[in-house]
Amino acid sequence: MAKITLKNLRHSYYTNPKGPQDFALKEVDLDWQDGGAYALLGPSGCGKSTLLNIISGLLVPSEGQILFDGNDMTTATPDQRNIAQVFQFPVIYDTMTVRENLAFPLKNRGVDPATIDQRVYEIAEMLEVTDMLDRRAAGLSPDNKQKISMGRGLVRDDVNVVMFDEPLTVIDPHLKWKLRTKLKELHQRVGRTMIYVTHDQTEALTFADQVVVMELGEVVQVGTPVELFERPAHTFVGHFIGSPGMNVLPAEIKNGVAHFYGHPVELEGPIKEGTSGKLEVGIRPEFVGLGDTGIEAHVRKVSDIGKHTVVDVEVGEHRVSAILNGAPPAKGDIVHLQFKPSQTRLYADGWLATDVVPESTATGEDAA
Ligand code: ADP
Ligand code: MG
Repeated sequence: MAKITLKNLRHSYYTNPKGPQDFALKEVDLDWQDGGAYALLGPSGCGKSTLLNIISGLLVPSEGQILFDGNDMTTATPDQRNIAQVFQFPVIYDTMTVRENLAFPLKNRGVDPATIDQRVYEIAEMLEVTDMLDRRAAGLSPDNKQKISMGRGLVRDDVNVVMFDEPLTVIDPHLKWKLRTKLKELHQRVGRTMIYVTHDQTEALTFADQVVVMELGEVVQVGTPVELFERPAHTFVGHFIGSPGMNVLPAEIKNGVAHFYGHPVELEGPIKEGTSGKLEVGIRPEFVGLGDTGIEAHVRKVSDIGKHTVVDVEVGEHRVSAILNGAPPAKGDIVHLQFKPSQTRLYADGWLATDVVPESTATGEDAA
């Protein structure tokens, strides 16, 4: 097992890239700590598979380096990297039995037969496929084929990292949930580095301790699920994570105070020095409340989603969502919005532009 470092990585599928738009990966610097459970999350086409294939050695990057524990592996073959990769669609040998398929990666490395039997049995138990061990893979359903494919990725215990590239695409929803839970358990038991690629926030947030969010060939934030939810580093993360996502509203600074639609808005902390560009206020629907005073808004839609209500309002031409627990207003009502200051952030050209005052400093100032 190893710590994996990506250094100044850039990749273009063109031989003569003309500009940033020709790069599938624009500039990636990342450390994957040994033993971590990671998700790589982002919309289709943002460069997730490109990144994985560069780590596994299926692709050589146009620029930059890949280090395993500090050793340069940029041009090493996939075999030399000692990585297991599970793809979106099953990769198995149809003519072999399930048992032979699962045993193959071990046999290939010269593992002794007794250990092979034991490992194959453990993995088959985990995936609940023990009853099909002696069936030929050709006859299996797509679900089961993919399970075996995952099993082949998990069967070796000496790999540097196991990578899953949207592995549950062909799996039915109920089984999806089960397999995801199993992977998480497995990670906790064996402590091997795992990278799980998905465009689905629920999959990412339930599997991973650390989520790497990508957009347009760039990493926009690395954080725990809570960090991504609470303090998105970029408005993209605010939109992409959460349901509904973060409200991102046009802002103006007047005399050092942020304003939205002419109303002063109290922010979580000071605005970063040198902030300029397109300014926006970001506030999650969970932290928008209603009161007697505040920003006047018209209620356009009220959706009861069980535990709480999602209320969509309009402030001028701007839509704002609020998640409310108490008695909701009715469509057509006029309400007053209150943003929880500690959860209200400023963004400049998409990037977080407010600082939080560290608690120790705040106390120090109070005392002085
Ligand atoms: P993701 O896995 O996040 O959906 P990919 O890494 O597959 O994204 O693709 C990133 C970008 O690179 C996309 O614009 C895609 O069209 C392009 N791309 C991917 N593979 C190739 C290829 N073999 N040749 C040319 N362009 C490619
Ligand atoms: Mg992909």
